[in-house]
Amino acid sequence: MVKTIKGIAASDGIATAEAYLLVQPDLSFTKKSISDADAEISRLKDAISTSDDELTKIRDIAKESLGEEEAQVFDAHKAILADPEFTGAVEQEVKDQKVNVEQALHDVSENFISIFEGMTDNPYMQERAADVRDVTKRVMAHLLGVDLPNPALIDHEVVIVAHDLTPSDTAQLNKKYVKGFVTDIGGRTAHSAIMARSLELPAVVGTDTITKDVKAGDTVIIDGLSGAAIVDPSDEDIKKYQQKAKDFAEEKAEWEKLKDEATVTADGKHFDIAANIGTPDDLQGVIENGAEGIGLYRTEFLYMQSESLPTEEDQFKAYKKVLEGMKGKAVVVRTMDIGGDKHLPYLPLPEEMNPFLGYRAIRISLDRQEIFRTQLRALLRASAFGTLRIMFPMIGTLQEFRDAKKVFEEEKAKLVKDGVEVSDDIQLGMMMEVPAAAVLADQFAKEVDFFSIGTNDLIQYTMAADRGNEHVSYLYQPYNPSILRLIKHVIDSAHKEGKWAGMCGEAAGDNTMVPLLLSMGLDEYSMSATSVLRVRSLMKKLSTKDLATLADRAVNESITNEDNKKLVDEYVNKK
Ligand code: PEP
Ligand code: MG
Repeated sequence: MVKTIKGIAASDGIATAEAYLLVQPDLSFTKKSISDADAEISRLKDAISTSDDELTKIRDIAKESLGEEEAQVFDAHKAILADPEFTGAVEQEVKDQKVNVEQALHDVSENFISIFEGMTDNPYMQERAADVRDVTKRVMAHLLGVDLPNPALIDHEVVIVAHDLTPSDTAQLNKKYVKGFVTDIGGRTAHSAIMARSLELPAVVGTDTITKDVKAGDTVIIDGLSGAAIVDPSDEDIKKYQQKAKDFAEEKAEWEKLKDEATVTADGKHFDIAANIGTPDDLQGVIENGAEGIGLYRTEFLYMQSESLPTEEDQFKAYKKVLEGMKGKAVVVRTMDIGGDKHLPYLPLPEEMNPFLGYRAIRISLDRQEIFRTQLRALLRASAFGTLRIMFPMIGTLQEFRDAKKVFEEEKAKLVKDGVEVSDDIQLGMMMEVPAAAVLADQFAKEVDFFSIGTNDLIQYTMAADRGNEHVSYLYQPYNPSILRLIKHVIDSAHKEGKWAGMCGEAAGDNTMVPLLLSMGLDEYSMSATSVLRVRSLMKKLSTKDLATLADRAVNESITNEDNKKLVDEYVNKK
């Protein structure tokens, strides 16, 4: 029976394929006393041998489809299975405690995990805790006779159905076979959603129930344009969505014609549309989509894809590649924004009740200055190869900006003294994503070179609504007059001091937001590369003259998010 499940449209496009459930099975068991230890040990040996065969297969496929580095984790898992210290301890536990092997495996692995996790001065060993946890899960699944999902083994076209996808899950999806994804939880600005857009994978998030509504192998249509998943579609549905996919492809082909054009409104005003990137590999998409610069380089991905803190040299190479690739166009690099939902296995952070309000971004950089200084040195050295701008994430107070700038100046002076070539024209700016800073934008504007408004966080902090929580997504209101007042204040404050203001949050590429931002005079719009041409096409149709009074009305007359959606619609469809 056809079922339509509504969710949040997270990444444009339509995908139809068989469902692959990326859902963890129930691995619970009961503790039992046993009399025949040998029989239990032989069950363990069978489960280990099946797990090992499976890991060999997964490793080989992962090596081919995802690369050597991604495949290495499976070798680490095989090594644990082959380690007599681990497997021997489980056997001994069965004999000594006379318990079933599930219980013995659980107890021994918990013991190993807590020893590894306790090695706080050895991040490499701490990371092994996650490997033990993963291997234990695999062996346990075989003991219990249940199937574990193995996304690396996918060898035909599928859409992924999951409760949630972490940024690292998303990074491991093989785009050749994975045509899209749909999840129970998450919002449009969760990092998995942002990544789906950069991979051009249609995605719907926050459906609440999709993992219960779909069985493995069901046909699912993902409508990333309007935010719905259609389970078990009729022939008619399939036809309808084929048409929708065709229309979307045609629209995209129209946008593509604007690739080499400047972004100019109907009344001849030029604005910069830049792209957001996570790694130097994203450059290709930036160039293909004709972006006029990079407005946000999220450098934390460099840290997330590395096994240990990236060295100054590694970072220098990555930054240089991006700057050279952009051939003199401006590149705004954001210093590391770890914390919140982005973690580094080798840099354990404290357990926090509210990670998004906790130890993250510039707060870590100012506290762990050796990490920050390495990054700034790499950036300074790379500055000789293009037009570099640097911004700091999560600045909340002027003191934080001053402290970060001081560290930057110190590292710059050291390099200059050592005769290293460094650009003397690096603009230093900040993300405007903490409401306290936005309220005081007039004071910040005197000291920064530019602002880049991070609406993803600015909205969540202003509305006190977690950006990834679908239960409060109704409060995630980009056009709420409170948000628009903050944005307008930031832009006006920058302009009063002769500085520029950009936006790199997802709202910069939103069709309803763009007319509001044009009316406020925002200078630079930075978004997923795949949105650049759509927004360029939209701007071509808009005239700043027609929009002149829109912003004032939106912040002074409107009361709700909905009021402003209607207001924008009135202005845009006036003619
Ligand atoms: C933002 O908060 O708007 C932003 C661009 O940063 P991130 O999404 O990486 O938090
Ligand atoms: Mg942010």
